[in-house]
Amino acid sequence: MKPNILQTPIDYLKGVGSSRADLLRKELGIHTYQDLINLFPNRYIDKTQYYKINQLQRNGSEVQILGKIVHLKTVEQKRGKRLVAKFIDDTGEMELVWFRGHKWIKESIKLNTPYVIFGKTKYYNGFNMPHPEMELYEDHKKKLSTAMQPVYPSTEKLANKGITNRVINKIMQQLFIETQARFYDTLSEDILKELKLIPKNEALFNIHFPKSQELLSKAQFRLKFEELFYIQLQLISKKIVRKHKIKGFPFPDVGHYFTTFYKNHLPFDLTNAQKRVIKEIRNDIGGSAQMNRLLQGDVGSGKTIVALMTMLLAIDNGFQACLVAPTAILAAQHFTGIQELVTDLGLNVKLLMGSTTAKERKQLHQELEEGTLHILVGTHALFEDKVKFKNLGLAIIDEQHRFGVEQRSKLWHKNTYPPHILVMTATPIPRTLAMSLYGDLDISVIDELPPGRKPIKTVHRYDSNRLKVFKFIKDEILKGRQAYIVYPLIQESQTLDYKDLMDGYESICRDFPNYEISIVHGQMKAADKDYEMDRFVKGETQIMVATTVIEVGVNVPNASVMIIESAERFGLSQLHQLRGRVGRGAEQSYCILMTSHKLSHDSITRLETMTRTNDGFEIAEVDLKLRGPGDLMGTQQSGVLNLKIADIVKDNDILKMARHYATKVLKEDPGLKMDKHKVILYTYRQMAKHKNIWNYIS
Ligand code: ADP
Ligand code: MG
Repeated sequence: MKPNILQTPIDYLKGVGSSRADLLRKELGIHTYQDLINLFPNRYIDKTQYYKINQLQRNGSEVQILGKIVHLKTVEQKRGKRLVAKFIDDTGEMELVWFRGHKWIKESIKLNTPYVIFGKTKYYNGFNMPHPEMELYEDHKKKLSTAMQPVYPSTEKLANKGITNRVINKIMQQLFIETQARFYDTLSEDILKELKLIPKNEALFNIHFPKSQELLSKAQFRLKFEELFYIQLQLISKKIVRKHKIKGFPFPDVGHYFTTFYKNHLPFDLTNAQKRVIKEIRNDIGGSAQMNRLLQGDVGSGKTIVALMTMLLAIDNGFQACLVAPTAILAAQHFTGIQELVTDLGLNVKLLMGSTTAKERKQLHQELEEGTLHILVGTHALFEDKVKFKNLGLAIIDEQHRFGVEQRSKLWHKNTYPPHILVMTATPIPRTLAMSLYGDLDISVIDELPPGRKPIKTVHRYDSNRLKVFKFIKDEILKGRQAYIVYPLIQESQTLDYKDLMDGYESICRDFPNYEISIVHGQMKAADKDYEMDRFVKGETQIMVATTVIEVGVNVPNASVMIIESAERFGLSQLHQLRGRVGRGAEQSYCILMTSHKLSHDSITRLETMTRTNDGFEIAEVDLKLRGPGDLMGTQQSGVLNLKIADIVKDNDILKMARHYATKVLKEDPGLKMDKHKVILYTYRQMAKHKNIWNYIS
């Protein structure tokens, strides 16, 4: 086979032609032979099995039935005619329906002759199947060379334009004929042998035309491994390149600020986990390579102090530092907290947000460019090009999953070398997934909460118990505590949600006439939000009614009750984040999940998980299983994992294996220069040519 035949445009394949080629490009992103061959089936149908009519379920799945047509009639209806056939097997009867092509069907159908029909069933006064695929049983029997029939991904447009599964199947056959199915192997002999993988051409053949269930499994395993192997290879080699080539500013000194703070101003003893993480960071930034580190730590685990101490190291070495937070409230809180901690050190700390006035900005920009501003805390406003530092050495990003990748990369260009980057997240990402999402970041984990925290007690209550719940809130307030009541507002513009929130607010005002109540939601002006939030922080209000804007990072240690309304509408990670707003002080805290009686299966799992455990990693695992990685915590980054065949959740074991082998290969041969790695280098380069995932990751 000529090596580049796979790069042939799809138009040239016999049976495709230019209009079909257009559709394939637009709908499935298939441009070349290679793309087509990598269009893997979603699933397979066992065409040796027939359903009985009395086994049909009302789930709209595709079925194959063996039976006979005993009667045909045309039915007139307002919107045109339809042709209806009565189809029977030895267990019952159903209808086949056609809205088009009556004449041809009427002429070609043989009554009382065994047919095999295939399609989706619908239910309306009994089962029917519109526009079934049909074949005489005689022919079907003869042709049955493969047992498993692939079902390819499709779109409505493709189906409407006649590019059915059968058509794709046909052009796939054509592709194998034209290329003679001789595909070079893409993995080294060593790996093939060690893992007993089948050769590439055999795998491709069996993924499209499986000879048996066993060969299909082998083909799937081989192709999944290959896909994950090359992703890991890219991630790991990128990391090696960064460590060798991307220079950073070395921060060798532990100087005045860090030491003074550590000795005199640290408000508590660090946990062992915090100490370990600070050591890991110091190790990174002490050398000459740029740090790119992800710091994971559950809500309340104490990431802020780690951030601050890292910033002090930057300042000790003559650099400036910045801390970016996703919301104004959070940025302001970081700012106040940091300022308090460092007042005695004589550091200049400033806050930059969208709402910062022009006058304040002018002053701030000047100090920033002169280098007299040591720490800049802020929101997105900080990414803007006009924000220039004299000497930015460290950028910290809090709750990084809220930021787009491009925004992060802006920070890279704020100095001659990229500053060291520390991204912090309270969203626990299972380690294996973190490896594939952020494989080129180093990962630190704070896996220990500060001492003396009492685990939050979580319960689930139905709306019908609201009075009891309100009584409980009153009791807690009498003890001097504060409570949050959170409403879902998934999209801030949804008027219905807004109405729920306002109704809730009014009824709470009625039920708690003797208390002060704050309200915060996304439609308020930033200044009003801050004002209300501030009242709650100071303890001037006892209840905070809010939408999820308070989800991230807000710290009010005296708040001990978190009520979540319509809890069934929140995702697990969001529930966990919200719950993390309480349990920050010494008092016993509570989280009450309110729902109606109507709960889906997934909602029940989420509620059950929340009431069972406080462990963020365990919750993340369940979340991952429920939602799949695509949705995980709204990580835009997971789009990178647009996998063709492997599934990060289900194929976790293969992922680990792939990572193991990728590491092994690169350890032995970092430049892939050895003869035995020739195929790997070649494949790797081919892939890099076509998609460079780096641009999306860090
Ligand atoms: P998060 O990781 O969610 O950002 P924070 O940094 O906001 O957590 O810390 C949560 C609370 O715990 C803060 O009030 C902080 O002062 C406190 N804290 C952090 N570390 C410790 C510690 N080692 N001992 C006691 N309290 C701590
Ligand atoms: Mg935080």
